[in-house]
Amino acid sequence: MKRILAAASFAARKHTDQRRKNPAATPYINHPLEVAEHLARVGEISDEDVLIAALLHDTIEDTHTTADEIRELFGERVMKIVLECTDDKSLEKGERKRLQIVNAPHKSSEAKCIKLADKTNNLNSILVDPPQDWDLKRQQEYFEWAEKVIAGLLGVNESLDRAAQQVLTIGFAALKQNREGTGIRRQEE
Ligand code: ZN
Repeated sequence: MKRILAAASFAARKHTDQRRKNPAATPYINHPLEVAEHLARVGEISDEDVLIAALLHDTIEDTHTTADEIRELFGERVMKIVLECTDDKSLEKGERKRLQIVNAPHKSSEAKCIKLADKTNNLNSILVDPPQDWDLKRQQEYFEWAEKVIAGLLGVNESLDRAAQQVLTIGFAALKQNREGTGIRRQEE
């Protein structure tokens, strides 16, 4: 329990200046908190290292946190899981996105669960509160890419799988409806 709260506090400090891309610019920390909470509630995961890694999953990629820092504070296993959830930022964005699809099936079960909860959370955010400057085409492209990553992450935890597939189904249906809605409006003009 103490370690989990220490990780939540550490992540809050590291992400303190960051905001999500939605119009309300929600504090970034809400995202790792939601991912960890989803793993515990929906996935019924109680492995402390996994919940801690979930709280820290974006710290190396998006803040100045180093792997050594995480190892010193939370141990080798947490560090390894977080590294598995970290994109190589020296690569182009397109290449990083391609690699996520290619590498997903080869991740450890722990990293698969976190990445699946991460994608589920991001898709849900796009669905209910899309980034300010994302049009429907960009949302559709994100869903299509995420679906390919998710395909490589399934098979570890049935409840997490179901939640991911559900947000994909609802999201694709909503996007289709929005597109057709816009189409109809355009015809009427
Ligand atoms: Zn994330």
